[in-house]
Amino acid sequence: MSGDYEKNSDKPLAPGLYLVATPIGNLEDITLRALRVLRSVDRIACEDTRQTQKLLNHFEIHTPTVSYHMHNEGSRADELTAELKLGARIAVVSDAGTPGIADPGGQIAAAAIAAGIDIFPIPGANAAISGLIASGLPTERFTFHGFLPARAGQRKTALEELVRGEVTHVFYEAPHRVLDALADVEEVFGVSQHVVVARELTKLHEEFLRGTAGELRSQLAARASVRGEIVLMLAPSPAESSSEQKRASLTVEVAALMKSEAISEMDALKRVARERGIGKSEAYRELQREQNRPR
Ligand code: SAM
Repeated sequence: MSGDYEKNSDKPLAPGLYLVATPIGNLEDITLRALRVLRSVDRIACEDTRQTQKLLNHFEIHTPTVSYHMHNEGSRADELTAELKLGARIAVVSDAGTPGIADPGGQIAAAAIAAGIDIFPIPGANAAISGLIASGLPTERFTFHGFLPARAGQRKTALEELVRGEVTHVFYEAPHRVLDALADVEEVFGVSQHVVVARELTKLHEEFLRGTAGELRSQLAARASVRGEIVLMLAPSPAESSSEQKRASLTVEVAALMKSEAISEMDALKRVARERGIGKSEAYRELQREQNRPR
């Protein structure tokens, strides 16, 4: 911690564009700064005014709203930029999470920058980052892809074109497509591809499923239906990742399997060894080395 925190709650809000993150399911995930900005701006541009109104009602915010969505992004961006040029303070929010991330926000940000208007990120909830940090997968390098293509052929091509190696891949996926996506992941990357599905993050039924694509597919297919919002993550390719990274993730992987499958450490270790194509005793020695390594 640097100790250089800004305490700007008593300053009037400067003119400009505010990109404000809102919760992805849990109302407590709104920040104090987001509330202050939403209360103080002249207008809030919303992906869906009715959706945002629920949030505003909850926090007793009475700022006027205007719609700003996929279908009017271009024209509305021009209109809002004209107001910003006159010194307005405008917030942009999406239905949930961080605007501009698989959501509207990018066009108005670019238009405001081109017009020389000040632009302020108001950080907060984001599904991809929330899923990633609790996935147990390496976070040093990751690529966020937004949604996988909905069409089967395009989805498979998108997977085939991924640059693997030491990179964790993060996708948003619709619940009714996740079984097909997992089948494609297995087909493209093989039976041992480790996957994490993060579902309903920050909500009552939040859950993490960790295992091979096939295991997760069977687990989800056994349910009456797959519901909720989903972040799908692919572990780096073991064959191409560095030995250091492999070592670093063995303990995490074993612990994650023990928890998600309610199995013993030995059973989890056997599974991880099988998935990595190494012997049980080699995996055991590796686990011991990791656990005894000075931190
Ligand atoms: N801008 C948002 C953000 O910052 O995360 C993402 C918007 S995108 C249109 C919506 C997708 O994000 C959902 O279909 C799902 O894949 C993912 N998502 C949003 N909320 C989620 C949650 N609570 N749990 C898991 N995934 C979520």
